[in-house]
Amino acid sequence: MLRYPLVCPTQHFFFLPDMRTLSEYLIEAERNHGHMCPGQVLGVRMAMAGCRSIGIDEPKSSRRLIVFVEIDRCAADAVNTVTGCRLGKRTLKFRDFGKLAATFLNTETGAAVRVVAVDESRELARTRYGHLPTKKEQQMAAYTELPDEELFRFERVRVLLDDADLPGHPLTRVRCDACGEGVNDRREVVEGEKTLCRGCAGNAYYERVD
Ligand SMILES: [Zn+2]
Ligand SMILES: [Zn+2]
Repeated sequence: MLRYPLVCPTQHFFFLPDMRTLSEYLIEAERNHGHMCPGQVLGVRMAMAGCRSIGIDEPKSSRRLIVFVEIDRCAADAVNTVTGCRLGKRTLKFRDFGKLAATFLNTETGAAVRVVAVDESRELARTRYGHLPTKKEQQMAAYTELPDEELFRFERVRVLLDDADLPGHPLTRVRCDACGEGVNDRREVVEGEKTLCRGCAGNAYYERVD
């Protein structure tokens, strides 16, 4: 097996299997995210493992991958770096669960895996890499070196994806009877005679200010 040296931001040299791919992704992740952090390493590892386990080896050129991320923090950007999945392409779905977890769906085969970063990995970073001076360095090293099995829990899942959630042209477009704004892809709410957008139906995240 070929092994490539990587200078980790902790300034230690690591030699790892899959090194070339991981180190390439990390360089890209730093550029995409704006800084290097434990979340980038964990997110890259999570996405690589998730894609592999549903039979997708080259996520960026795949047209059969949809990812659901459950957190809007650092690791979400790393998942984007590895997979190329984006909100604007409808291939990245955000489910606001506040969990460091993501589900990877192969739309061709229906195979899906939910990958969860286990809480114990923080503890492992502290106990196994306690010789490194800062928590960040400990986590970076642990998330780079520990095997997938120690960092993640994998669950086979089934994802029911509505056809109105798929990439491609919008299936429908209606106008809200209250505000007049257009609503795509069956996101409208029908109340009696009225067709409303979600905002006008009482689910606005904003308040109009005069
Ligand atoms: Zn970050
Ligand atoms: Zn409306």
